[in-house]
Amino acid sequence: MRTARAAVLAAPGRPAELREFPVPAPGPGEILLETLASEVCGTDVHLRDGRLARVPYPIIPGHVSVGRVVEANDVARDAVGNPLAAGSVVSFFDVHATCHSCYQCLVARQPNRCPSRRVYGITYSAEEGLLGGWAENILLLPGVRTVVLPGELSVDDLIGGGCGLFTGFAAVDRAEIRLGDSVVVQGVGPVGLAAIAFARISGAGAILAVGEPRARRDLARRLGADESLPLAETDADERVGRVHAATGGRGADVVIEASGNPQAVPEGFRTLRDGGRYVIVGHYTDAGSVPVNPHIDVNRKHADIRGQWGSEFHHWTRALDTLVRYRQRMPFADVIGRRYRLEEANDALDDVEALRVTKAVITP
Ligand SMILES: [Zn+2]
Ligand SMILES: [Zn+2]
Repeated sequence: MRTARAAVLAAPGRPAELREFPVPAPGPGEILLETLASEVCGTDVHLRDGRLARVPYPIIPGHVSVGRVVEANDVARDAVGNPLAAGSVVSFFDVHATCHSCYQCLVARQPNRCPSRRVYGITYSAEEGLLGGWAENILLLPGVRTVVLPGELSVDDLIGGGCGLFTGFAAVDRAEIRLGDSVVVQGVGPVGLAAIAFARISGAGAILAVGEPRARRDLARRLGADESLPLAETDADERVGRVHAATGGRGADVVIEASGNPQAVPEGFRTLRDGGRYVIVGHYTDAGSVPVNPHIDVNRKHADIRGQWGSEFHHWTRALDTLVRYRQRMPFADVIGRRYRLEEANDALDDVEALRVTKAVITP
């Protein structure tokens, strides 16, 4: 039987290692991909460090990936009805097995909180097969929402945005940005950059980004921020002052927290105007607690605080459609800092952790 190499995180706190897996013939409803690219993001660093709960190590990481169809067994259309066949270049929604029959799915209508959901590259064990992107092949199980990449989009357009593209889109959706709204984006990693880009084409007014390092702030400007404020050379009072100066002294209509740093949250409240909307999306792992004053920050401020956990399939397809239409204004391919072979997976993780690259990509 043919085998495929994969980078595996065998246990929390251990570096990635190469392993070989048998390549299965796809069963009914399954699709076998040859991997073209898979992203590396902050979540993968957390996975190596063991900072995510309920991860079934050993795992093959890689949740957002692009591949070429080797064989599709009894699948002739993608999730939005376009023809799919051997040779098609596809990506897929990493969230799988949402049940559509539990309380969260049916009544609360929050399928992103469905307890049955599984995520490629995060909650599938390597013992279950090639269900992560850092591998020469990926097996798409029945029901995985697969989409043939529109001809206008390159692999890099999508993978340069990575999962941040969809999470950032979901955060902007959650913020319900109105034409002319001033927006502060805290954090200029992939989620923050995507939030800036989608806020810009949503018709936001002033957009201010806050974060490090400088290369990412430059990308923030290219993707639509009017101003990008450094963390290193300013203190919170100065940054809050800048936001108030740019918003007539009121504070921002919308603040999107995409930094993952708990310290950003008290500052976010201070930059938010009375009655503004604060979307917290950057805390995919538990990085600790911070004090919030219920009177000043929330009640008297009449603040509208919204959490956003990952994304849903409709965010995923709408983000892709938007990227096709506005790709000239969204140069996500330029966010890619470096490409790494499978055997360089630890270098990729080290570079992402040290912020040496904004988006790292595994090309097996
Ligand atoms: Zn469910
Ligand atoms: Zn990711």
